[in-house]
Amino acid sequence: MKVLKFGGTSVGSPENMRSVMQVITDQKQKIVVLSAMSGTTNALVEISDDLKKNNQEAAKKSIQKLESGYVEVIKNLFTTEEFKKKGMEAVHSSFHTIKSFVSEKFDQTGENTILAQGELISTRLFTWLMIENGYDTKLLPALDFMRINAEKAADSPYIKKHIGQVLLEAGNATYYITQGYICRNANGEIDNLQRGGSDYTASLIGAAIDAEEIQIWTDIDGFHNNDPRYVENTKKIEQLSFNEAAELAYFGAKILHPQTVFPARVKNIPVRLKNTLNPTDAGTLITAESSGTGIKAVAAKDGITAIKIRSDRMLMAYGFLKNVFNIFEDFKTPIDMISTSEVAVSLTIDNTENLNKIVHALDKYGTVEVDKNMSIICIVGDIIAEERGFASKVFHALDGIPIRMISYGGSRYNISILVPNTHKKTTLQRISDNLLNNGDS
Ligand code: ADP
Ligand code: ASP
Ligand code: MG
Repeated sequence: MKVLKFGGTSVGSPENMRSVMQVITDQKQKIVVLSAMSGTTNALVEISDDLKKNNQEAAKKSIQKLESGYVEVIKNLFTTEEFKKKGMEAVHSSFHTIKSFVSEKFDQTGENTILAQGELISTRLFTWLMIENGYDTKLLPALDFMRINAEKAADSPYIKKHIGQVLLEAGNATYYITQGYICRNANGEIDNLQRGGSDYTASLIGAAIDAEEIQIWTDIDGFHNNDPRYVENTKKIEQLSFNEAAELAYFGAKILHPQTVFPARVKNIPVRLKNTLNPTDAGTLITAESSGTGIKAVAAKDGITAIKIRSDRMLMAYGFLKNVFNIFEDFKTPIDMISTSEVAVSLTIDNTENLNKIVHALDKYGTVEVDKNMSIICIVGDIIAEERGFASKVFHALDGIPIRMISYGGSRYNISILVPNTHKKTTLQRISDNLLNNGDS
């Protein structure tokens, strides 16, 4: 069985939902994971933010606006009065839930429950649309099988066991629809897989059921060799390895949630990126094999903070790095890049929740400097197999860019470069012009 995930734009209007219906209805049994309609999760985040700030009036206005939008969707989505009524009931039930959290005692449960409504609405509407059109379809409640543990990591054994049960309970159907993004946490409360998490849902389901293929359907023809939001002349990549795709997704390629590749890689399930607006295009295939040598793509991750610890005590000493790393472990803060010299170590983090405490703890080991608003530029490919002189080509391409850190040789798949965020766009464009497009346009 295949697992197909459709993103926000793909289900962003009645017309697009009908296109999805056309794409999936080939009479082959499949699980279809849907995101919220585009714009909905952003609106729900804003509503939650207003409620956190005790700004109930602003929240009520936004809720009203969002609900009216859905009433319009229903008018255009269904043909019969019977299904318009069913659609309206689905929408009203979710908005009833949202409104029940408009209070001064707004908390995390309220926020997570509100954020879940986008996917709950889109999947209910889509399921009714399929049934109205005569397709044998069942809705699988993701909150009954998708779960994260106390460390906020996917609880794969739980997911495998419970999706099996949910499928059994649902009974036979050709098309199963379920919600992306939403899950329960270790306490059984509603939670989510972070923004863009529907991709991860699809991959977790794919691994749990040993799917034949995981397909991520979106609004672009596949994985491009650079970020099309910032750079001109980006090109679709036909094939990527799991390792290459994982690096690119982790380092900011928005087309895939950072963790999507891992469950698929463990089970060796191919991941295919496809365009809902151009379904016959083959898209990008991600498998265990890498094809071709040299640089394949580049991505950028923003919001990076660099921390430098300089200490004479580091000279010829052992144990220094261990003490430094222990501090990051104590504050549960992952490190992305590291570079060292004889008397200093620089590293980067993107979670700054405990930055002040980390800096305070590091103070006793040396002089600490912090640079905020940096971006990691991650160049991916079979770098080691690239001909000699590759590093000089990279430096040449980035002439004049203030590079703060470089990480090269950690794996054969990537080189990471840290630059101020203000230089991100130029850096990406220079890499496209000099290293990816080889002079063509
Ligand atoms: P969805 O809502 O379908 O999940 P996303 O907006 O999350 O879609 O991801 C698709 C978008 O990712 C594209 O429209 C594109 O702007 C952006 N993107 C960023 N980097 C890349 C890349 N390397 N290749 C393709 N798309 C990319
Ligand atoms: N709807 C969620 C978001 O906007 C999840 C997703 O689209 O993957 O982040
Ligand atoms: Mg996405």
